[in-house]
Amino acid sequence: MNDSAASLHACIESLWLHLRCLQRAGLKFDALAAQSGQTACALAPGEQLAALRSETADCRRCRLCSARTHVIFGEGSARARLMFVGSAPDRASDAQGRPFAGESGELLTRIIEAIGLQRSQVYLTDAVKCLAPQQDDPGDDAGEACFPILKRQIEIIQPDIICALGPAAARTFREQASGAGPARGQFHRAGTMLVMPTHHPELLLRRPELKRETWIDVQRIQRELESAPLRER
Ligand code: SF4
Repeated sequence: MNDSAASLHACIESLWLHLRCLQRAGLKFDALAAQSGQTACALAPGEQLAALRSETADCRRCRLCSARTHVIFGEGSARARLMFVGSAPDRASDAQGRPFAGESGELLTRIIEAIGLQRSQVYLTDAVKCLAPQQDDPGDDAGEACFPILKRQIEIIQPDIICALGPAAARTFREQASGAGPARGQFHRAGTMLVMPTHHPELLLRRPELKRETWIDVQRIQRELESAPLRER
């Protein structure tokens, strides 16, 4: 093999190893998967989440990239049985670089603790990962652009239950939920998961009279977690 052929061979081998590494990190390349016949990822869920976080840290797939300070990826246990999905980060989260960081986040932390869990035992994220002008409703275009990130997070974590906080977050699961639609306070099956839509803590700060409904919803989640057998992870 001459020098140029050896150089080309080394280059191809390097590229192939890089693609395999990305594939192991959770990226899906259909053609590559078909060629290799291998889709299983050898990385632990925490490592897959870290790789996905790194991959999305400078995402510019939608208009929200222009006004954000950070992409708010998510935090918590990579093996959480319960995942909370809000609509979009608020200004406190955008400033601090973590989900549910402000006053509404403190309220959510108290709700989580009220059902016997710690924040570190669940996973917290938003359907849309960047600060939106209207946090309540970041827009279907942003939701669609951002959905692949959330979908991949769910595939990695494989929670038993997703608690969707607010109507915009609940709409994210409309296609996956069986039945007419994701009504608040009712479990909807989405594959192996249950989705429970409830109020967003931001709304609870403005309308504390809705806390009672939220309490009923999260107690249903608690009972479901306690009654369901633990799945192998
Ligand atoms: S909202 Fe999602 S899709 Fe849009 S720029 Fe941020 S991370 Fe990317």
